[in-house]
Amino acid sequence: KVRGSEDSDYRFYAPHLREQLLQRRAMEGDLRHALKRGELELAYQPFVDADRAAVSGFEALLRWRHPVKGMIPPNQFIPIAESIGLITEIGLWALKTACAEAAGWPGDLAISVNLSPVQFKSKTLVDDVTAALRDAGLSPRRLQLEVTESLFIDQAEDVLATLTALRRLGTRISMDDFGTGYSSLGYLTRFPFDKIKIDQSFVRDIDKPESLAVIRAVIGLSHSMKMAVIAEGVETPAQYQLLHREGCREMQGYLFSKPQPASALPTLLMRIPLDWPMLTEETLPAR
Ligand code: C2E
Ligand code: MG
Ligand code: MG
Ligand code: MG
Repeated sequence: KVRGSEDSDYRFYAPHLREQLLQRRAMEGDLRHALKRGELELAYQPFVDADRAAVSGFEALLRWRHPVKGMIPPNQFIPIAESIGLITEIGLWALKTACAEAAGWPGDLAISVNLSPVQFKSKTLVDDVTAALRDAGLSPRRLQLEVTESLFIDQAEDVLATLTALRRLGTRISMDDFGTGYSSLGYLTRFPFDKIKIDQSFVRDIDKPESLAVIRAVIGLSHSMKMAVIAEGVETPAQYQLLHREGCREMQGYLFSKPQPASALPTLLMRIPLDWPMLTEETLPAR
């Protein structure tokens, strides 16, 4: 292979790869302006407490309303934001916006915010969370921060120190997408999370014995380690009933609600449990 000129390298790209590269560069450029142009939004999806037949909180999920391409889901732009160093700024905006929104909600509804592993390693994270809570006037008890197993791949000591500092503020820490990432359970004994989120892939395949086995193991683990447990991606009454029977108290999924704009939440809260008969059917009888 002869190296030296750019042209000689280009011969090794298939044309569609070159097209993809150009599209990626365009997305990067657009993303750099998205925040200040007001193109980012948060959608909120409820956590349902099956035992109380009530909503216990909402997860904030980022959306990008691109002026030409329309709504772009987070799985398409968050990896880009991470790779070009924008995720800390975007994540901070999401945190501040979600805390401010939640401060206006009734009762003690929780707000859950996702933290990227890249953002997690920012030196100012603990100060940023402190400031977001203070500016919003939100009690730290109402804020949950969602992290993933990928955090523990390296620098476990720094990660544990940051998690401990966040917990000391009074916030709660959830392990998101549990069972899909780094497969050592050792970190659970070093840092007991407040909540484990069973990944939606296991819920989707709950009819397969191996998925049900994982779900049972995670619920058992959460009970014995005194962590709360929530199942993600609950779409059918059958999944809901099976999970509840297995001892999973909290659920999140399209069965209850898709992620909604903040303006839709008062109506959503008002209509419970009208819209969700499966909750009251399971909790009210047996008297
Ligand atoms: P996640 O934190 O695991 O969020 C759950 C995802 O599952 C959301 O996708 C949600 O809309 C979707 N979902 C909820 N219920 C159901 C269901 O019943 N069926 C199916 N098929 N899907 C369901 P979304 O909003 O596209 O977000 C995808 C991922 O993007 C999130 O996964 C999270 O990892 C990331 N993300 C979203 N917002 C943020 C953010 O503010 N910061 C960071 N760092 N990551 C974020
Ligand atoms: Mg999440
Ligand atoms: Mg998740
Ligand atoms: Mg997930």
